[in-house]
Amino acid sequence: MRWQNQRRSSNVEDRRGQRAPRMGGRLGLGGLILIAIIAFVLGENPLALISQVGGSSGPAPAQASQPAANDPAAEFVSVVLASTEDVWNSLFANAGSRYQEPTLVLYSGMTQTACGLGQAATGPFYCPGDLQVYLDLSFLNELERMGASGDFAVAYVIAHEVGHHIQRITGTEQQVREMQSRLGQRQSNQLSVLMELQADCFAGVWAHHADQAQNLLEQGDIEEGLRAAASVGDDHLQKMAGRAVQPEAFTHGTSAQRMEWFRRGLQSGSANSCDTFGEAGV
Ligand SMILES: [Zn+2]
Repeated sequence: MRWQNQRRSSNVEDRRGQRAPRMGGRLGLGGLILIAIIAFVLGENPLALISQVGGSSGPAPAQASQPAANDPAAEFVSVVLASTEDVWNSLFANAGSRYQEPTLVLYSGMTQTACGLGQAATGPFYCPGDLQVYLDLSFLNELERMGASGDFAVAYVIAHEVGHHIQRITGTEQQVREMQSRLGQRQSNQLSVLMELQADCFAGVWAHHADQAQNLLEQGDIEEGLRAAASVGDDHLQKMAGRAVQPEAFTHGTSAQRMEWFRRGLQSGSANSCDTFGEAGV
């Protein structure tokens, strides 16, 4: 990607190196010692236990900072986020509405979110409760391990999470959650798949416009994005985990489906082409 001389977003919050979560005031010294003992016996991380006992919801810590200069990975993330802002600001404006920009939180290990304790092990995620994308940069190594390397693979992942933000601010996410509350596990999983595929399609829409406006894409970038989409397909993840592929347990879609929807957004450049629900007859 040609990203070096592009605008950086002011919506990146850097929580790396912060100790999280903060300990709540609800646990006395006795409680903390007890947890330390239980953690020792169970071989668990005491901080994780404290957050379970102390309750992990609530607003994120207030202290936030922008990434320092000379931090290429953080700068790259910031450029990608800025590019998603430019693209979605203009697409929303064209549709006669206003885009509410999300914040991207960089963290290491774990961090407090309105959706509970965010942990690096879960990979990048979007929390609808605080409208923030959470990214632990160590995930980038993980992505590489899963067979998706390169800067555009990372950009695809960020654009996908921003896709979930769009689902939130347009009301799709709430509609889906509401339907899921009335459905069984299997149908509920199917709806999750449609949400994920739509976010992939939105990532493609972003890539389409980012390339037109900023000439961002280089030879091989699309292939990187497609490889990333394929490597985070449920069938691939299940195989990597040594399990048999079970389509009814899918919540993100197969590698082929993810690549297909990313490609659709990329080719059309239109969010209207991302109606995964309509196409599935929902
Ligand atoms: Zn997703």
